[in-house]
Amino acid sequence: MIIVMKPHAKRESIEHILNLIKENGLDTHVSQGKEVTIIGVVGDKSKLMTQNLEIAEDVDKIVPVTESYKLANRKFHPEPTVVKVGNTSIGGDEFVIMSGPCAIESREQLLETAFAIKKAGATILRGGAYKPRTSPYSFQGLEEEGLKYMKEAREATGLSVVCEVTSLAAIETAVKYVDMLQIGARNMQNFYLLKEAGKTGLPVLLKRGLAATIDDWLNASEYIISEGNPNVVLCERGIRTFETATRNTLDISAVPVIKEKSHLPIIVDPSHATGVRSYVAPLSKCAVAAGADGLMIETHPNPAIALSDGPQSLTFPQFEQLCTELRPFAELMGKKF
Ligand code: PEP
Ligand code: MN
Repeated sequence: MIIVMKPHAKRESIEHILNLIKENGLDTHVSQGKEVTIIGVVGDKSKLMTQNLEIAEDVDKIVPVTESYKLANRKFHPEPTVVKVGNTSIGGDEFVIMSGPCAIESREQLLETAFAIKKAGATILRGGAYKPRTSPYSFQGLEEEGLKYMKEAREATGLSVVCEVTSLAAIETAVKYVDMLQIGARNMQNFYLLKEAGKTGLPVLLKRGLAATIDDWLNASEYIISEGNPNVVLCERGIRTFETATRNTLDISAVPVIKEKSHLPIIVDPSHATGVRSYVAPLSKCAVAAGADGLMIETHPNPAIALSDGPQSLTFPQFEQLCTELRPFAELMGKKF
């Protein structure tokens, strides 16, 4: 439920409502617009005497929020959230590109990639140090050694860095080295991990689960936000369907749907969505046109010898070409890049 106050409601009227709600043991979330204040109510509302609220001074109306996610809900927070990641902001007027290898393989590979993607226009370096591989016999990642290279790449280039975390131990280590934590598709409903990531206060990139509905996904984001961490960026990375021509099916409609239902920024990952290098560029353009706040694109100095996801990784010249082609699309959408 949200309580919409009348335009320019008095401070005392707002305080009165907040106290009434708190006396009933419920939490509040205040969204302060230019003229209108919206008070969101979180918790079991069965005990709340809504009639007292309806007649209170400066209350315009009470609107029920039927969705189970509240803090991630646009109704609670009409203004778009802008998440600061190092020197970059996601969700504002910048179009943000994160790029880098699927897995950090060596210091040289990561540094070479960092300089190349920066030159092309990316502002965030991605790279996996803990790889949730389908097979236990595939390369599992360099773990802390890889995170050290990430930090070095960040210092050398000024890029911000994001790394996936797959356990509490990984979170505890990663917070020392990265600007943003990534929760992968396979862990989207690992609620314990979501809460622990939320507690760090670091921005969290939350990928959509392989078979998650948008409702599941927003509820997952609610786990992070309800730990007091509003810095969540969603990432559409394709979902499982009957189609086999691509690794997953990119749900491009998720972008406008999320924009309508939530205030959180959303980026698109066409690399994992398709698994095919040649489809990355056209779907990147679709993502910009659909209103995404950014992209995540896998790149590698030599995809033919990549330890993971080589077939979907772009070479540096391909990535640079793509960034050049994306600029007019971003401009058309009113985004700087
Ligand atoms: C990744 O970004 O490296 C990754 C494993 O992606 P996803 O969780 O979307 O499969
Ligand atoms: Mn990958």
